[in-house]
Amino acid sequence: METLKITPTELLEYYFCPRFIYFMNVLKIPQYEDRRYKVQKGREVHQERQKHNKDYLWKKVGAVARESNVYLISEKYHLHGLVDEIVTLKDDTLAPIDYKYSVYPRHVYRSHRTQILSYCLLLEDVYQRLVKCGFIFYIRDGNRQVKVLYDDRERIKVIKDIEAVLTIIQSEKIPERTINIEECRDCTYKNICI
Ligand code: SF4
Repeated sequence: METLKITPTELLEYYFCPRFIYFMNVLKIPQYEDRRYKVQKGREVHQERQKHNKDYLWKKVGAVARESNVYLISEKYHLHGLVDEIVTLKDDTLAPIDYKYSVYPRHVYRSHRTQILSYCLLLEDVYQRLVKCGFIFYIRDGNRQVKVLYDDRERIKVIKDIEAVLTIIQSEKIPERTINIEECRDCTYKNICI
């Protein structure tokens, strides 16, 4: 039987608000498209740049090889997802790259960190190769590049976060509301979330 799997984007939503996962994955109420639009837009801008300047990425992260738009599945970690880019670095380790259609938000949000770290976990499991970091490119900030380190501690945290999301889906119990009520203002589910 196929195991339940989530995507790195769903982990990002979990950090936005655990209750979001309940509405989206248990009640199956679709969210509005704003964030999905940004994900899609990031990919399109990235693909357009690739056509015109194939070397820009290599120079920025010191990669010696790369693959674009790679779909990966990990049965072990209940994860699947499309990685924008996988690069091989000079030390022969692999690293994922995620493109965000946004400006650099002064620091890397925990949600963005968890998302890129979950791509690291996916790569490590699927390729059985060493992964020491991932990169986020903030496209609307002159392609600002941020390196996020991945180690044993981060791996354990990501696995715990995946388990937390799976528990919400499998238990079908509604989680507490987010403590950050600022998030509610722009939330798709604000009219049904009481
Ligand atoms: S309205 Fe607030 S508490 Fe409810 S799902 Fe949205 S962010 Fe979470």
